Amino acid sequence: MVGGGPVGACAAQALAADGASVTLIEKEAEVCPPTSGAHANCGLLVPSYVTPLAAPGALGQGLRWMLDSSSPFYIAPRPSGALLRWLWLYRAAATTARARAAAPVLHALNVASAGLHDTLARSGGERWLYHHDGIVQAYEAPDAMDEAAEEAEAARELGVRADMLSPAEVRARFPGLRGELAGALFFPDDGHMDPALFTRAMADSAVASGAVAHRGTEAIALEPAGAGAVKVVTTRGDFVADQVVLAAGAWTPALTKGMGLTLPIEPAKGYSVDVDRPADFPELPLYLGDAHCVLTPLGDALRLGSTLELSGWDMTIRRRRVAGLRRAAERVMGIPEDGPVRQIWRGPRPVTPDGLPVVGRVPRRERVILATGHCMLGLSLGPVTGKLVAELAGGRPPSLDLKPLSPIRFG
Ligand SMILES: Cc1cc2nc3c(=O)[nH]c(=O)nc-3n(C[C@H](O)[C@H](O)[C@H](O)COP(=O)(O)OP(=O)(O)OC[C@H]3O[C@@H](n4cnc5c(N)ncnc54)[C@H](O)[C@@H]3O)c2cc1C
Repeated sequence: MVGGGPVGACAAQALAADGASVTLIEKEAEVCPPTSGAHANCGLLVPSYVTPLAAPGALGQGLRWMLDSSSPFYIAPRPSGALLRWLWLYRAAATTARARAAAPVLHALNVASAGLHDTLARSGGERWLYHHDGIVQAYEAPDAMDEAAEEAEAARELGVRADMLSPAEVRARFPGLRGELAGALFFPDDGHMDPALFTRAMADSAVASGAVAHRGTEAIALEPAGAGAVKVVTTRGDFVADQVVLAAGAWTPALTKGMGLTLPIEPAKGYSVDVDRPADFPELPLYLGDAHCVLTPLGDALRLGSTLELSGWDMTIRRRRVAGLRRAAERVMGIPEDGPVRQIWRGPRPVTPDGLPVVGRVPRRERVILATGHCMLGLSLGPVTGKLVAELAGGRPPSLDLKPLSPIRFG
């Protein structure tokens, strides 16, 4: 297993629980390190999320925002063949028909994963601050609220539960609410947790079931090792395995390149800021839909997060984007923009052009399984991905159709 993010840790956990002999390789000193895509993410479990990143209109809006580095979605203009290919494939995927086809795929993954999260949380004593009792998605602008209500209607057809809330009902849940709202939606089947605590608990659980974890060990290349085995060449020696799972998030394309597979996965930078949690902030995440700012309570901290920036591997913290999150939190919830900060974080989401993950075997390198490209859903979909990987590695038929997640669907 290469990669100790939520996807790799969940896959290691599922494989080890299955009785497989597992070696987990993570390049940083710890599982779910600060440089990963998940360390301080928004912590949401979102089975309600069925609109893929590639949805009609999203690119147009992205391009309009392109030159505004404080906007929620930003593409840093730069000459990059990989980015151009990604944008080309994204444009092709951002049609009504393709978004409609992707929605049930995301829904099936989400529902299966939410059930597994519950089971894992029960057996893990919920020590990763797990709560599965909904999130509120609120809008300041009436037209944004209308659009969200339409999206919720489409999601309901797939079985997503979504209740409309009036501004007064939101205020009853969030007594600190200060700004004016047009309305909100309540998704009762969503939830939240601490992503780093969860991921490390999954890795610990894998180790407790017999897996061996090598931290500070970077995979450099994969080579055939005779008799169908695979050699993983690392900075700390070679590891030979019957099967290798690549779950290296946004770094995965660097490893598949040597196998003749150019994966269109871009690192999409997102930010979070942890501040002190106001005493009256309930145990319920609030997503400010038009500001694209999530407020997630995590113990005595409140995490403000999100935004999406396609700047390649430039992981510079743009203060204007951090300020954008804080301004939204001040405007709507009265959380002072200049109040004390506990932590500012940014990390790379592994984004595919069609918004669906990549789960499946590498063509002509059948002993290599890919589990990556989870976009904004790697925490939510970690457990179901782990289950699918364990089924593939164990030679069992996968419990969900893997065709839409095929590594070769981009040509
Ligand atoms: C701001 C923000 C908010 C988000 N909010 C949510 C949310 O609320 N809910 C949700 O479900 N998702 C959320 N996401 C998305 C989620 O965090 C990603 O989808 C997730 O991180 C993907 O998991 P992963 O395990 O594939 O990759 P990562 O988390 O990036 O983990 C990959 C790991 O592989 C390691 N690695 C890389 N290359 C190598 C190598 N060569 N050798 C060894 N190890 C290697 C890395 O060090 C890293 O630890 C958010 C992301 C961001 C940025």
